[in-house]
Amino acid sequence: MYVTGLEAAFVSARIDAARALRASNPLHLYEVRDAHARGDCPYLRAGFCGEHLERPLGCRIFFCDKQLDVGGSNWQSDLYETLHSETIALHERLAIPYRYLDWREALAMVTKPADRA
Ligand code: SF4
Repeated sequence: MYVTGLEAAFVSARIDAARALRASNPLHLYEVRDAHARGDCPYLRAGFCGEHLERPLGCRIFFCDKQLDVGGSNWQSDLYETLHSETIALHERLAIPYRYLDWREALAMVTKPADRA
């Protein structure tokens, strides 16, 4: 799963805010590293997304259910490409360098220094 730098910063900040409202700790860097080593996501909880309301674009669009592959229309990829193009345009409009990277790598970059223990 890949995200842009802007998307990672935005989603991470929203997840941290949602966690603060639930009196949960923000994500720690060791959780990101552990997830990377396992090959999954640090927000995965018992087989489900622990941050479903705030998840990134790719997580919102792609489904593993073959029944959603309507006649091989490739609608998921088409929708993703459309919205990804809008995200790139947002990077340009805000003069934020565009990067497209692995979700866990991006999370490691935006994890606040205070939460890196
Ligand atoms: S849906 Fe996305 S954010 Fe949620 S656990 Fe899966 S990869 Fe992580």
